[in-house]
Amino acid sequence: MADTSTTATTATTTAMPGKYKVSVLRDKCIGAASCVAIAPKVFGLDKDQKAFIISQDELDDMKLLAAQSCPTAAIVITNIETGEQVWPR
Ligand code: SF4
Repeated sequence: MADTSTTATTATTTAMPGKYKVSVLRDKCIGAASCVAIAPKVFGLDKDQKAFIISQDELDDMKLLAAQSCPTAAIVITNIETGEQVWPR
């Protein structure tokens, strides 16, 4: 009998490896780009020099570090398991 248990557990981890979801408050963003420097897989700058989300595919610690680096607290992190806002506190 084939072992299917390993494939089942890895299938759901590709899109979002952690439990933190990031979003950007565009009206607060001043285009400082520290978020892009810390987490370039997650954040990009658009033509208006405002941050946008490329992907949620990053470690929670990196998302939190990027959010904490934002000088205007324009990055909001929510724990998708609890619904709690993690950052800003
Ligand atoms: S660090 Fe903050 S202000 Fe700078 S680009 Fe990112 S979201 Fe915008």
